[in-house]
Amino acid sequence: MRLKDKVALITGAGSGIGYQTALRFAREGAAVLAVDINEEGGLQCVADIGQRGGSASYFRADVSRASDCEKMIDAAESTFGKLDVLFNNAGISHAEDDDAINTSEAVWDQTMTVNVKGVFLGCKYGVPALRRAGGGSIINTASFVALMGAATPQLAYTASKGAVLSMTRELAMIHARENIRVNALCPGPLRTELLMKYLDTEEKKQRRLVHIPMGRFGEATEIADAALYLASDESSFVTGSSFMVDGGITAAYVTPEQPRVKAGSWL
Ligand code: NAD
Repeated sequence: MRLKDKVALITGAGSGIGYQTALRFAREGAAVLAVDINEEGGLQCVADIGQRGGSASYFRADVSRASDCEKMIDAAESTFGKLDVLFNNAGISHAEDDDAINTSEAVWDQTMTVNVKGVFLGCKYGVPALRRAGGGSIINTASFVALMGAATPQLAYTASKGAVLSMTRELAMIHARENIRVNALCPGPLRTELLMKYLDTEEKKQRRLVHIPMGRFGEATEIADAALYLASDESSFVTGSSFMVDGGITAAYVTPEQPRVKAGSWL
């Protein structure tokens, strides 16, 4: 078991990446504190883990609120005795997030508050707990959009994920000598609620798929596998990284489906 005797706190565990990662971590021996504002999803996740013989507990917290974040870290330590892995994964993508002209200040603020401040607050209260445990691993969910511009405007979301990447790098430097590793996980487009609620027709899905070299959406379970590597001691020399798990999207210039140009024909 790759996370034997470890305690992991996962935010956004009521759905998608967080849910699947909670199951994966528990299968590898971790005790999991599943955190979400969505009580139904969080409780379902914990029940699922219990049915499979794992150890988990649900805690309701809004990651954009300092007092909630302080309490969720306390809950991990009081329920399971310590904290080894902090997965700051909860995030939102607002339906009215648009370009600079059309994105309202309220949408900008809400996106930044959950996606950026939520990671900061997780670390603010989580780092002291990791220190008490003698070190650990922090994983922050960013996105491939932190590195790529897209014609589909989503300005607040994209900026928020860029902030998660730069915050991750700085945290990694600050805590590098304390046995606390900090890495960003950058998923590509996934078949989870967050994206599929927008790509709700086959035509919209196909329009996105042409940009993904592997020609398909990723699964939350594939991100969970990457999170497992970053959480476990197998990644003991990995810190400050931006771990792309994106079907090749950030490596692409011309995707395989698009017409190929013969070498030299630019000239
Ligand atoms: P999801 O919508 O399936 O799950 C997100 C979970 O976070 C939900 O259960 C939601 O209730 C919870 N949440 C939202 N706001 C919260 C808050 N303030 N406090 C606590 N919990 C909160 O989405 P997902 O696809 O699993 O996304 C997880 C992370 O991955 C997000 O940070 C997202 O930005 C990122 N991501 C997703 C994709 C994708 O294509 N789905 C791609 C790249 C990055």
